[in-house]
Amino acid sequence: PAQVASLAADIQKKVQDHPCYSEEAHHHFARMHVAVAPACNIQCNYCNRKYDCSNESRPGVVSEVLNPAQAIKKTLAVAAAIPQMSVLGIAGPGDALANPARTFEVFSELQKRAPDIKLCLSTNGLMLPQYVEQIAAANVDHVTITINCIDPDVGAQIYPWIFWNHRRIMGREAAEILIAQQQKGLEMLVARGILVKVNSVMIPGINDEHLKEVSRVVRAKGAFLHNVMPLISEAEHGTHFGLTGQRGPTSEELQALQDDCAGEMNMMRHCRQCRADAVGMLGEDRGSDFTMDKVE
Ligand code: SF4
Ligand code: SF4
Repeated sequence: PAQVASLAADIQKKVQDHPCYSEEAHHHFARMHVAVAPACNIQCNYCNRKYDCSNESRPGVVSEVLNPAQAIKKTLAVAAAIPQMSVLGIAGPGDALANPARTFEVFSELQKRAPDIKLCLSTNGLMLPQYVEQIAAANVDHVTITINCIDPDVGAQIYPWIFWNHRRIMGREAAEILIAQQQKGLEMLVARGILVKVNSVMIPGINDEHLKEVSRVVRAKGAFLHNVMPLISEAEHGTHFGLTGQRGPTSEELQALQDDCAGEMNMMRHCRQCRADAVGMLGEDRGSDFTMDKVE
């Protein structure tokens, strides 16, 4: 029982510090993302490569891609300027684990120079099982996996290809591998006590009904939080790679699905779909105050 209580206390602490994991914390703590991960190893049909990874981020303007040294410098500058800054996340503009050298360099350097900053990582999950050890060793407390499906037939409509073992794999087979890697990565992270948030992009007519099943499965495996986000398909963001004419959900549809998924699962309802270089409290973006020309 003592062990259970201390585990619970440990999780409680991790939740309290992160504005995305706790509605309460989001009023008191700020987070920032550094855009150090330009490459991606899969193709999502809803991705518009001109903008940030839709894993987490609202397509808007392309983030300024930083090298690790710049990212570290920027993080330290922001932490000095914004005392509530509790979390540094790497969420794109591609996939954090498709750029492992860059991602882990930032984490390990910050771990040495600013050990109070919590580290957070977002990924499509393809490379997750291979990096769980390194994630744990880097003291990353929070990982977000974007899981849009657990059925390869649904996946084949969302992911045209993945890049795997040095070759491109298409269609259903690609989705099958991606799904297996995501689920395995989720289990491995939970086993290590790392808090996992699952993001899902709701795509009407493609995975909307299916996401209820996804929610049940990831909850059963120990995901801490489920964040169902709307597909953003606004004309000004251009044509999506493979979903021409695909609409996003209405806010009523989104809310109905979030309610259906709720059950005992914690649903995140305050996600702002931040950019890959967002800075500040959720809902405010001070990224433009901290561009490299201003922190260098
Ligand atoms: Fe685009 Fe992100 Fe999907 Fe990669 S994981 S294709 S960057 S949306
Ligand atoms: Fe948090 Fe959502 Fe922003 Fe990610 S995109 S930092 S989950 S509010």
